[in-house]
Amino acid sequence: YDDRDGKIWMDGQLIDWRDANVHILTHALHYASSVFEGERLYEGKIFLSRKHSERLLKSGEMMDMPIPYTVDEIEAAKQAVVEANNLTNAYIRVVAWRGAGEDMGVSSARNPVRMAVAAWAWGDYYGDAKMKGAKLDIAKWKRPSPETIPTSAKAAGLYMICTMSKHAAEAKGCSDALFMDYRGYVAEATGANVFFVKDSDVHTPLPDAILNGLTRQTVIGMLKDKGVTVHERHIMPEELADFEQCWLTGSAAEVTPVGQIGEHTFEVGALTREIAEDYEKLVRS
Ligand code: PMP
Repeated sequence: YDDRDGKIWMDGQLIDWRDANVHILTHALHYASSVFEGERLYEGKIFLSRKHSERLLKSGEMMDMPIPYTVDEIEAAKQAVVEANNLTNAYIRVVAWRGAGEDMGVSSARNPVRMAVAAWAWGDYYGDAKMKGAKLDIAKWKRPSPETIPTSAKAAGLYMICTMSKHAAEAKGCSDALFMDYRGYVAEATGANVFFVKDSDVHTPLPDAILNGLTRQTVIGMLKDKGVTVHERHIMPEELADFEQCWLTGSAAEVTPVGQIGEHTFEVGALTREIAEDYEKLVRS
């Protein structure tokens, strides 16, 4: 991704894509002092743009890393990147991190917090899974307790076990991994929330140790508007055997049907298809 034409916004300026580099002694590279957002631009408009910018600032606060920009300034930066790269449908990545500076130990209070915005065309996150349902492995790692790390921050450190779990999943021919949390409850995928259908009701994990995704919140609203009963609750892994349908939600993943998790299979059923189509209509409206 580093060798491309285009413009990236970095610390207040649009610069050439290939020049958007950081020093090797960047604090974030050593200690994961980084927070980010993943968003999608549809027909020239970023879906839930302000909510993403607000979450970025909150993630920064939770990681004791105040980001020196306002929501309006982040919005303007994203808009500048979309325009400079002539994009209509794209993925937007905003990242803020502790740079190189006075400190090279764990403390970083004297190092600047920096920010960048990049955007590029990115198709379906799970390839052709939208049609036939994604195959998921069950991760051997567990989502951590909110007493271990701020689990509602979208922070780089929370993704170490995501990358490891996704590699293990891919080695088994799966496109993602589903995590249990530190208590053993069903949690989330490596970059998406999870929903299940049983007897026309929908069940999804409580967001008490996972990212309460913006897409998750949108989809719950859509389901309730349709009159579907949504149970936000703790879900045991044994229950996977009883669920009929399953899908993932995320800004990148959108609504992706799941066909298999470990040994359990699910049909890509009517409600899954309906919600995927409704979401597609909503983001483009
Ligand atoms: N969980 C994790 C771990 C994620 O990385 C994401 C993607 N941001 C989500 C859930 C879904 O969040 P959202 O719908 O806000 O993109």
